[in-house]
Amino acid sequence: MIKTDALIIGAGPTGLFTAHQLKLIGLNCEVVDNLDKIGGQCIELYPDKPIYDIPAVPECTGEELTNNLIDQLKPFDVKFHLNERVEEVKKSNENWQVKTNKGTEFSTPNIIIAGGVGSFEPRKFSPKECEKFENKSIFYSIKDKTVFKGKTVSIFGGGDSALDWAVELSKDSKVNLVHRRDEFRGAKATVDKMRVLEKNGKINLFTKYQLKSVNGKGNLESIEVEHDNKEVKNIKTDYVLGFFGLIMQLGPIANWGLNIDKKTINVDTERFETNQKGIYAVGDICTYPGKLKLILSGFHEGALAARACFKLARPNEKYRFEFTTTSTNLLRRLGKKE
Ligand SMILES: Cc1cc2nc3c(=O)[nH]c(=O)nc-3n(C[C@H](O)[C@H](O)[C@H](O)COP(=O)(O)OP(=O)(O)OC[C@H]3O[C@@H](n4cnc5c(N)ncnc54)[C@H](O)[C@@H]3O)c2cc1C
Repeated sequence: MIKTDALIIGAGPTGLFTAHQLKLIGLNCEVVDNLDKIGGQCIELYPDKPIYDIPAVPECTGEELTNNLIDQLKPFDVKFHLNERVEEVKKSNENWQVKTNKGTEFSTPNIIIAGGVGSFEPRKFSPKECEKFENKSIFYSIKDKTVFKGKTVSIFGGGDSALDWAVELSKDSKVNLVHRRDEFRGAKATVDKMRVLEKNGKINLFTKYQLKSVNGKGNLESIEVEHDNKEVKNIKTDYVLGFFGLIMQLGPIANWGLNIDKKTINVDTERFETNQKGIYAVGDICTYPGKLKLILSGFHEGALAARACFKLARPNEKYRFEFTTTSTNLLRRLGKKE
């Protein structure tokens, strides 16, 4: 059981800046995110797109903003738990007990939900029997490409991820690329590369096909794909990879007894507290009169929620407002000379 002054759910821009604010005022925190990387929507949805409305930053991409927020956290020791989704939140005495899908447990007086539009989940194959092969022979993301070496891999999708992996894995694996249309959405250069590999027999291309069924006892043995004209092909394969993009789901947050309205959580604008004492919501997931779903609003909300956490984390101390420019306390925490 990990004890912490505050647990942040979500490592998007709001969660990251909130962690900074908590550490600055001397509180510990841990951050959990369902994704395998830090950055939330900025990294997952628009890493290369420029943002023009971050105060004092005339222009930066989603990735640059994320890297700057991570740099800003460098003086502090913040533990991230990636690839873990917070599933359960329960009150036990004065503290909240929080559990992730991987079984990590936290005990904390303060939970800050910075969950954005909910957790990003991969869009999955529709045949029900795919579930029993999931994370064994069927994957929606790749953690270690070496497992596919020398194997037959059937990749589904028509965007950049499907194409990039088809090109990459064709170096050491037998690759089938299956797409439900004739045209690909990925970058032209990658589409061209894939076409050359197809011509050279390195990639078998199946367009206008979709997955119909998966077969195998224990391990996956073969799949059936169906053409638009209903023709069915049986393909022997060791692995199946699906790259159909992400969907956003409020998921387990909906079951924690919070005051939820249209997939957002109602908060007050002084502490950003929800209807549950010690649970705060900041960033895109919170709502209040006049709420703007902008990154700059999340920063402000996180700063106030962090200060609100102080009372429950340090009941015998009084929070004292200080500037980073002039406070020796804050400069020490930032690792700067006083
Ligand atoms: C295309 C596009 C362009 C945009 N351009 C701008 C712009 O120019 N300027 C601007 O200010 N804003 C812009 N935005 C909006 C901005 O990205 C959001 O306001 C911002 O990302 C919200 O940050 P957040 O940290 O609150 O949530 P998010 O960035 O959504 O991060 C939330 C994180 O919480 C995680 N999470 C959720 N539930 C759980 C759970 N149960 N367990 C574990 N983890 C969980 C998610 O995986 C996610 O990583 C844009 C958005 C889009 C889609």
